Amino acid sequence: MDLIKKLTDIVGEKHILLDEADMQGFVIEWRDKFVGKARAVVQPKTTEEVAAIVRLCAATKTSLVPQGGNTSLVGGSIPFMGGDEIVLSLSRMNRIHDVDPLDGTMTVDAGCILANLQAAAEDVECIFPLRIGSEGSCQIGGNISTNAGGVQVLHYGNTREQVLGLEVVLPDGRIWDGLTALRKDNTGYDLKQLFIGAEGTLGIVTRAVVKIYPRSKYQQVALAAIPSVDAAVAFLSLARQMSGDQVTAIEIIPRICIDMVVRHVPGVTDPMPARYDWHLLIELSSSSTENIKELMENILAAGFEQEIVLDAIVPASQAQQQKLWQIREEISGAQKPEGGSIKHDISVPVSRFADFIREADIAVAKIIPDFRSVAFGHIGDGNVHYNPLQPEKMDKSDYLGHWEEISRAVHDIAVSMRGSISAEHGIGRLKADDLVHYKSDVEIDLMHRLKQALDPDGIMNPGKLLKK
Ligand SMILES: Cc1cc2nc3c(=O)[nH]c(=O)nc-3n(C[C@H](O)[C@H](O)[C@H](O)COP(=O)(O)OP(=O)(O)OC[C@H]3O[C@@H](n4cnc5c(N)ncnc54)[C@H](O)[C@@H]3O)c2cc1C
Repeated sequence: MDLIKKLTDIVGEKHILLDEADMQGFVIEWRDKFVGKARAVVQPKTTEEVAAIVRLCAATKTSLVPQGGNTSLVGGSIPFMGGDEIVLSLSRMNRIHDVDPLDGTMTVDAGCILANLQAAAEDVECIFPLRIGSEGSCQIGGNISTNAGGVQVLHYGNTREQVLGLEVVLPDGRIWDGLTALRKDNTGYDLKQLFIGAEGTLGIVTRAVVKIYPRSKYQQVALAAIPSVDAAVAFLSLARQMSGDQVTAIEIIPRICIDMVVRHVPGVTDPMPARYDWHLLIELSSSSTENIKELMENILAAGFEQEIVLDAIVPASQAQQQKLWQIREEISGAQKPEGGSIKHDISVPVSRFADFIREADIAVAKIIPDFRSVAFGHIGDGNVHYNPLQPEKMDKSDYLGHWEEISRAVHDIAVSMRGSISAEHGIGRLKADDLVHYKSDVEIDLMHRLKQALDPDGIMNPGKLLKK
């Protein structure tokens, strides 16, 4: 029987898309950088349906591309142009099975949208600490498969740290039930870790047990102007010490990013009375003190004394604090109308953060002297989104023609500092060549062996992460 007919029998006619127009939203990447073609998009509702689809694909050696919210920035969720792959969308698997503040866990389907999990945790006075710009559309299965980071990694860790148990459909269609809620379990290899960050190349995550945490009662956000990136690193250390490690987020924002957001996002105004080159957005959280605003002010005052803070805003109301966060969250989108931007997702040891930006700026200027430096992000994790922007008067495609040359120079600097070429977005299609270039032969060999052991026919998201 024809593959499409069998897939239709599994999910029902309403949940298989075959028409090119209907599949558009599933074959184009968020930034339009990657476009593909699929033979079909299937939208199963249960783990058993996923398993039946995978068994069918395994029997016919048909490639599958698992897809969550399709917010990947590296083309991981987009099929190639061949038109023979099946996109497996998890969107209909969106049940929150239980939220348990006693155990500090939630059991959720892979297709649950991240913002809905945050809201479900809030309902029981808890938080699910993964906070990323795409939270309104990305799914927990995608977050797990990319080991997503975000603004609270400093305090709570990556997605990897939030996962206690997983259910996975393996490439041969078997279901692995690893849905434990245990915090301690030393019974051999920790199998869930294989699938976290695997970008859909080893199996399909269908359900997860994740951690939730008591919600901090008090929170204070501030925006500080600082003299340099070096000052940011010094301030981070000061703030952690003075607060007893209550810094839940700290983001570095250069002037150019504030200007872009003000220019392109309606309703956003410049919060700073004067113009400074660098800023820090800082968030303190605590359950035990109502004096958190005072604590923030004391930390900033100490920063003034040490000349690592030049100016600061400490808003009183929630709404004003949210406005400061909005600036950070809009940066990704505000880059688009400015023209070509060559994106990097670098991490280096925190102590090398300033060196990295300095050296990368020099290296890019050697290629495009009047490029605009855009470097922002999660300084607390040593993670910078280093996105050199085209000169205002340059043709966009001429500029983007330098992508490989610029990226190689930037990545070389990160790797020379024992940094990473992909701190949180993963490898996907975008960085599959870079992975081979920068990882050792031993690492690449181990990865291929794992892939071969679990997916010998290479049907799970082929060509992503690992080159075929
Ligand atoms: C505006 C914006 C801001 C962002 N900010 C951040 C940020 O701060 N930090 C960060 O880490 N990322 C960020 N991202 C990147 C992206 O949102 C994350 O990588 C996110 O985790 C992807 O989730 P998704 O559901 O959209 O997955 P998709 O894009 O659909 O898929 C991502 C990868 O996971 C695989 N996959 C998806 N679901 C499953 C599953 N159930 N089982 C197996 N494999 C699966 C796909 O095949 C693909 O390889 C941002 C993206 C945007 C657009």
